[in-house]
Amino acid sequence: MSRPLPRWFNSGTNTEFADERRRMVEQQLVPRGIEDQRVLDAMRRVPRHLFVPDEQARYAYDDHPLPIGDGQTISQPYIVALMLEAARIGPEDAVLDIGTGSGYAAAVAAELGHRVVSVERHPDLAVTAAATLEALGYRVNVVTGDGTLGWPEGAPYDVIVAAATGPDVPRAWVDQLARGGRIVMPIGRAGGAQHLAAFTRADDGGLVSTNLGAVAFVPLVGEAGWGPDGG
Ligand code: SAH
Repeated sequence: MSRPLPRWFNSGTNTEFADERRRMVEQQLVPRGIEDQRVLDAMRRVPRHLFVPDEQARYAYDDHPLPIGDGQTISQPYIVALMLEAARIGPEDAVLDIGTGSGYAAAVAAELGHRVVSVERHPDLAVTAAATLEALGYRVNVVTGDGTLGWPEGAPYDVIVAAATGPDVPRAWVDQLARGGRIVMPIGRAGGAQHLAAFTRADDGGLVSTNLGAVAFVPLVGEAGWGPDGG
């Protein structure tokens, strides 16, 4: 199911949709307060149109989420930027990305950090995302499973980001988070009140949280998430 990549990509130019990417950054991210140059540069680089179904490619840089199959969506560019800015991913950081979906956010995280593990519960999405990431040269370890359990094999993580909304921070994530580590995730019910929360792990192991505002994500479905119907 992996799509053949256009020839231009391997030429290293990556110019297709470059204007759209620049406009996305200048019109959607900067005016809304995204200031981290590493995040802005990463989003100018990652070819988002290759992470969506072919028929959606021309809308890939628009200011909204897009369907990617299995009832799931690729997040709006601004939301990806907001989450990754809040996560403060440094070049040496290990990142756990929950809800691979298309693999786009994992690719941006891979531009920012040292290594990325990405967990997706839908096997077909995981397979497609892993193929796209590999074809583009992103070294992301995509695994299929219940991300609410984290991925202990890759712990500890400096950053855990989740693109699906849960009832609370799963215990496993706190256990797998390094000292001073950050968790960025939406909290609340899918289709109900949700907010984007950023947590920092304090020296005593406790979490200090910041509210980044109202959001709308699909449910985090799993053992430490919501039930299969999202409720
Ligand atoms: N970051 C993605 C957005 C995907 S939407 C992107 O850039 O495209 C959220 C994803 O979370 C969906 O694909 C959904 O299947 C997945 N998901 C929901 N609950 C999950 C869980 N417990 N573990 C792993 N993935 C989960």
